[in-house]
Amino acid sequence: MVLAQLGGSISRALQQMSNATIIDEKVLNDCLNEITRALLQSDVQFKLVRDMQTNIKKIVNLDDLAAGHNKRKIIQQVKAFSIPIYWPIVGVCEAVFNELCTILDPGKPAFTPKKGKPSVVMFVGLQGSGKTTTCTKYAYYHQKKGYKPALVCADTFRAGAFDQLKQNATKAKIPFYGSYTESDPVRIAVEGVERFKKENCDLIIVDTSGRHKQEAALFEEMRQVSEATKPDLVLFVMDSSIGQAAFDQAQAFKQSVPVGAVIVTKMDGHAKGGGALSAVAATKSPVIFIGTGEHMDEFEIFDVKPFVSRLLGMGDWSGFMDKIQEVVPMDQQPELLQKLSEGNFTLRIMYEQFQSILKMGPIGQVFSMLPGFSQELMPKGQEKESQTKIKRYMTMMDSMTNEGKFILHKLTQNLLTELDSSNPKIMNESRIIRIARGCGRPIMDVMDMLEEYKRLAKVWSKMKGLKIPKKGDMSAL
Ligand code: GDP
Repeated sequence: MVLAQLGGSISRALQQMSNATIIDEKVLNDCLNEITRALLQSDVQFKLVRDMQTNIKKIVNLDDLAAGHNKRKIIQQVKAFSIPIYWPIVGVCEAVFNELCTILDPGKPAFTPKKGKPSVVMFVGLQGSGKTTTCTKYAYYHQKKGYKPALVCADTFRAGAFDQLKQNATKAKIPFYGSYTESDPVRIAVEGVERFKKENCDLIIVDTSGRHKQEAALFEEMRQVSEATKPDLVLFVMDSSIGQAAFDQAQAFKQSVPVGAVIVTKMDGHAKGGGALSAVAATKSPVIFIGTGEHMDEFEIFDVKPFVSRLLGMGDWSGFMDKIQEVVPMDQQPELLQKLSEGNFTLRIMYEQFQSILKMGPIGQVFSMLPGFSQELMPKGQEKESQTKIKRYMTMMDSMTNEGKFILHKLTQNLLTELDSSNPKIMNESRIIRIARGCGRPIMDVMDMLEEYKRLAKVWSKMKGLKIPKKGDMSAL
């Protein structure tokens, strides 16, 4: 499964959850199973996926939430402008996102070479993984940043390896060292490193032969090269299409040499995303670059958050979370939920929610950061229209408050009574006419706004009795 497909599957799973009328344990489990399947098909190692599922369930603690309550009442999905209703789904999305980031971030940064001080970086990996190509890309990248790199070909196993390195190095105008006749890679590596240290190169890159974990003799040789050259960094190069084998292979390398970082190559092709996750887990080292093509400059710094966002097809997830918190600060969210759980969806709360929505900027844009939500919250092409409608509602409410808070309160009372009773005609027509006159809008507009309020109030009335998580524990939603 290629990356885009994985992202699509996960997005679909999250969207299915958002389409459910209720979010209970079954819905969450279905969603997580779907995500699990997608990750396994993308060659993420089974144990990683299982741990991730357990962690998410721990974070999204439905049991806690439902304690003493009917689970089915936990949350009702609303096709409304109410942001808080999205929190449970946001909670799951966030948990999935954070889990993937955690897998990819081993918590310790990789060694970075310093300019003017000689560093030795040794490249290891399976044959054909893209090691030799990546050595030059890595050297070229640093050369552009002002380093003085050099390349040493310690691959005496593969015929033509030295020629390949020489050709690449010449193209990039990077000094190189190797031999057609010497068969001892340890010797070449030591000679090359010594020579370039004397020449004041500050980034000496040693390319080694590709090997497979079954090849014990070659592994021993790699260990000897590492011992003799004492690299500051051992880089494990991994082909992104290696699949489920990634974990075992990466682990075998880590057991022989002190792998400190990973580079994932061929991310431009039919790349499977899972291998990267597995390689990080196996080596406990971060991915630092990805290869995105055969050319020298098709090489990118690896950044965990954008990678996971792309993997999930989420656009900019961290941007979304920042926006949400900007509008309704985390510590105020439980307060608002508390009010709502008491069943008090007043016109004032509706007004405040509209304010929040407008503060977020074009809603379609903000919610399009979430998989599957933009369409539901705001049908495409109607963003502007909805925005204008909200603004219109607010102007009307503003003119109502001009007459004092009392009116707004009284109105709420009337409307709530109307909702509770089976008689929809309690709202006095003359009052509606008065409001319309007061704000200079047609009567129809006022009716429309009141209908919107009734719709939202009805939805929120179902939230009565909702158990509110403790402050600062929004993720438990
Ligand atoms: P080595 O045996 O590990 O040294 O692998 P090579 O450097 O010889 O690369 C093997 C093949 O993969 C070559 O044809 C490279 O051009 C190709 N290759 C390496 N990196 C990438 C990449 O990021 N994208 C693509 N499309 N091909 C790559």
